[in-house]
Amino acid sequence: MLRLSLTLSLLGSAAWADAPKVVTDIAPVTSLVAQVMKGVGEPFQLLPAGSNPHDHALRPSEAQALDQANVVFWIGDALSPNLDKAVDTLAGDATVVSLFDAEGTLHLASRDSVIFEAHDDHDDHDDHDDHDDHDDHDDHDDHDEEHHDEDHGDNHHDEDAHEDEHHEAGHGHDHGADDPHVWLDPENAKIWLGVIAETLATQDTANADIYRANAAEGQAMVDQASETARDLLSAAEGQTFAVLHDAFQYFESRFELTALGALSDSDATSPSPARMAALRDAITEAGVTCVIAEPQFDPRLIEALGGTLSVTEVDPLGTELAAGPGLYPELVVETARRIAGCGQ
Ligand SMILES: [Zn+2]
Repeated sequence: MLRLSLTLSLLGSAAWADAPKVVTDIAPVTSLVAQVMKGVGEPFQLLPAGSNPHDHALRPSEAQALDQANVVFWIGDALSPNLDKAVDTLAGDATVVSLFDAEGTLHLASRDSVIFEAHDDHDDHDDHDDHDDHDDHDDHDDHDEEHHDEDHGDNHHDEDAHEDEHHEAGHGHDHGADDPHVWLDPENAKIWLGVIAETLATQDTANADIYRANAAEGQAMVDQASETARDLLSAAEGQTFAVLHDAFQYFESRFELTALGALSDSDATSPSPARMAALRDAITEAGVTCVIAEPQFDPRLIEALGGTLSVTEVDPLGTELAAGPGLYPELVVETARRIAGCGQ
């Protein structure tokens, strides 16, 4: 046993020997943690590039990393319900931080509808009321209710718990949990940089000053990325787009973009034929020319939407971006660049 641990520490980098062993879930979270740990160590990302966080099942090597972790930063069971049990049991000794649940994190309710309604229940979205003039609004609402009942019953084992939090938070929505794609609001990322730094500072007091300085630098980088994103998107003002999977609500909200609707809602369930037909009709009616698609999703779904749609791939996980501290700011800028260029 002594010999084994000696061998492992010889194999490990010097940084790993000193730094807490930190495990993350998706690349944007890894990037924020890597920024905070800069000069001290590097996090281990649990979910390999290309995996779908909505339904990832752990491999043995990933389970081992969780088992050895001192700290786990992940979005939480709202995004990856399948990992909930593994995090609970394997990372039992670790400090586990769900960023979704971190204090100050902005939440938006999941949009269960095929066609999104105006966000007139949020104070800062009063200027988006022009959605209300869809003629057949009521028909779509009927579809939505069916959809909600079918899809949510057995996918969210923790839905009841979320419902309760949700009502406590006073959002005033009748159904559904909050949208788990919280990292696409850069303001959430800035809050988390602080949360990550304070968590690591508690674990590893010797490097506390480094963590805090890195977090402040990271927040400035995110601010700069948001500014660049705003500039890029100002060129595409008034553009409406449809999305394959409702992953971009936080980005839309922060940058005041208008999405028409989504083929698959924020828990990424497969769309029903009725839902596909409803979105196809709405795209035609609204004259939308742009669809945002994620690389993980089937391109045949877009063909089924018909028309002369221009398709832009945007990966909310930043899979093809260079890993490391720069990935998160780059994800913000690249998402804006692609949305701005879509259908133009
Ligand atoms: Zn998603």
